[in-house]
Amino acid sequence: MIDLETPVAQLLEGARGKPKLLVVDDQPINIQVMYQAFGSDYQVFMATSGAQALTICKNNPPDLILLDVVMPGMDGFEVCTRLKADEATRHIPVMFVTAHTDAAQETHGLSVGAVDFIAKPVNPDVVRARVKTQLTLKFQSDLLRQLVFLDGLSGVFNRRYFDQQLATEWSRAARNNSPLSLILLDVDFFKRYNDRYGHQAGDDALRNIASALKSCLRRPADLVARYGGEEFACILPETSYDDALAMAHELERRIREKQIPHEDSSVTDVITISVGIATREQGAGGDAQGLIALADNLLYQAKNSGRGKVCGGVMEPTFKS
Ligand code: GH3
Ligand code: MG
Ligand code: MG
Repeated sequence: MIDLETPVAQLLEGARGKPKLLVVDDQPINIQVMYQAFGSDYQVFMATSGAQALTICKNNPPDLILLDVVMPGMDGFEVCTRLKADEATRHIPVMFVTAHTDAAQETHGLSVGAVDFIAKPVNPDVVRARVKTQLTLKFQSDLLRQLVFLDGLSGVFNRRYFDQQLATEWSRAARNNSPLSLILLDVDFFKRYNDRYGHQAGDDALRNIASALKSCLRRPADLVARYGGEEFACILPETSYDDALAMAHELERRIREKQIPHEDSSVTDVITISVGIATREQGAGGDAQGLIALADNLLYQAKNSGRGKVCGGVMEPTFKS
């Protein structure tokens, strides 16, 4: 069963604060009108050309765009077409605002992906109401899209998201020739924990561990996912072996310091984890599966050398100088 409490609360936290609107119009006076309509309830960003709008959308994606159709250079239809073609911006709803409202224009606007079409001069109450409707739909679909990638029990990302992100980060690391580190960790003697304290307590411990891991990660690009039953994984892009090793030790220490009692552990009397870390060094060949296999081997090594330990290794550069 999906525990909606944790993930939804976290997602809504992200959506809290004023929604971001981007108003695109080559006439500053039109932007001014929109600012008066929205300035108090929204964060309003402005662009006076299509190119500027695309840059803003890439760097600081808004929640909704009010887009003029007729602009010198790139027109609104072209801007919308480009936004919809890019995975990073395709989910931003676009509402056209235009003085030319014939059926053909409107049909064209909707066919390139707009959600609505508003006539100038705008009536502030009407445009506010329409924006609100579209934003509600947008936040609902954001939520659903994100829930698909969250683990129902622990609230961290799930295996599906992990697989997707690791592939993406591997490609990025290969393209930019940058390091990439992967941490795999497994709770020690967790079967005994369940046997002694019950499955419900086991679930609570997993939630507890997941949130401790999450709070250790510092960079926005770092992520923690539930990899399997009592196994978690962290992807650390642009992270060297030394930094990843330090992080792995910190995770191990942090979980130990939570002092979750585990009387039947053979390591100590609290829950511990075993950790394997693998780094793709700059210039390394291979693939993401190889990185997982290496981290998994090192995790196995940590288990075999007594548990409550960290073992690490690197994928070496394959080129010869
Ligand atoms: P090791 O130190 O070698 O990792 O021993 P272990 O007992 O942790 O490993 P094993 O693979 O034998 O057992 C894993 C246990 O984790 C068994 C399973 O019931 C428990 N587990 C897996 N997923 C969940 C879960 O979602 N909730 C709870 N409560 N337990 C889980
Ligand atoms: Mg285990
Ligand atoms: Mg396991």
